Amino acid sequence: MPGVIDIIQKKRDGRVLSSDEIQFIIDGIVSGSIPDYQASAFLMAAFIQGFNIDETLALTKAYMNSGEIIDLSDIPGIKVDKHSTGGVGDKTTIILAPLVAAAGCRVAKISGRGMGHTGGTVDKFKSFKGMSMSLDRQTLIDNVKKIGVGISGQTANLVPADKKIYALRDVTGTIPNIPLITASIMSKKLASGADAIVLDVKTGSGSFLSKYDDAVELANMMVEIGKSMGRKTIAILSSMEQPLGRAIGNINEVIEAIEVLKGSGPSDVQELCMVLGAEMMCLAELTDSTSEAREKLGEAIRSGAAIDKLRQLVKEQGGDAAMVDNVEMFDKPTESYELLSTKTGYLSRLDALTVGQASMILGAGRETLKGTIDMTAGIYLHKKCGDFVKEGDVLARLENRSLEKLQKGVEILETAYVFSELPGIIPELIRGRVS
Ligand code: URA
Repeated sequence: MPGVIDIIQKKRDGRVLSSDEIQFIIDGIVSGSIPDYQASAFLMAAFIQGFNIDETLALTKAYMNSGEIIDLSDIPGIKVDKHSTGGVGDKTTIILAPLVAAAGCRVAKISGRGMGHTGGTVDKFKSFKGMSMSLDRQTLIDNVKKIGVGISGQTANLVPADKKIYALRDVTGTIPNIPLITASIMSKKLASGADAIVLDVKTGSGSFLSKYDDAVELANMMVEIGKSMGRKTIAILSSMEQPLGRAIGNINEVIEAIEVLKGSGPSDVQELCMVLGAEMMCLAELTDSTSEAREKLGEAIRSGAAIDKLRQLVKEQGGDAAMVDNVEMFDKPTESYELLSTKTGYLSRLDALTVGQASMILGAGRETLKGTIDMTAGIYLHKKCGDFVKEGDVLARLENRSLEKLQKGVEILETAYVFSELPGIIPELIRGRVS
């Protein structure tokens, strides 16, 4: 076996690494026998030269085997997981977990915390007073057996290789790389034990990969890795040019998710949930077609079964389920500001990344892994792309618990808007599908 320096040089020179060499490097990074400076050099070489599909598979396996692998076989039926590559205003998991569970799916979900301008499901669910997002494995499995759904945060032992390497990538400019993202995401999905995986790969300004072709390549690679590991995997490509829905933050996103589960809420959020939920139902073999699945999901919302499933989920995990029906019980911001339009015209661009950054500065996101968040902080978008706006109209409402951060958030949000005389092209929500 060549040494660490030989392997770094091999990748630096664009040569293909063997599975054993990749395993050796990942083991060394996790155990600490390879110091951060060599790990960083390896990551930069990999970032520049790339990995082919066999190397990416070896990398994914090495990541996955670095920690605990959850066994969900005790839960009857096909367990389907859904993963989003991260976006602004993406509250789909809060909706989909109870929605598909109400329609018969078994959902045992391990979710992540928010990082940077993209929010995390664990933080959002914690808006419910008392709700635990750190279930031990047996409790998660028991809850899924009892009510069909359970959600928990990642433990330190789930893919420790990714925790270590993601932190290094974050400070070495090596995040936006397709094989590295594939291994990072797919190892966590595979270690989480689901039999089938629906991926929501975001494309556009607010996503990790802003170019459409890159997002397609990422979707293809993740689907191929999922299938090579014996999991039914499909990917939907969805737009993140403008934020999803109208609420961006934590508590406000939970409130918007409740609205969707009760049959109202923004149409783009409804549609994305229908598309992803229908794919989950098909992979779980509960329906033969996505149109039949959409029927069932629509019925779960109309009958009240979906919102009831959310009440059960919150209650089972120790949260106050009364908040589902009385949103006044959520913590309230102390500061707020209405951003008014200084122009008249069509809103032709509402840059998702800028909105996400404004929301983070308000306090809704964390800049470092250990950062804290203000659950009341966020933005409500009164206008979205394609809307006609008059001077003086309210574009958005910003809220939080810090006047200083509010002012900074306003300064950033103002730069997210572009107006035109004619209605521009509204970004299409669903951009593609890879199976
Ligand atoms: N999300 C992840 O979990 N990992 C990445 O590398 C990028 C997005």
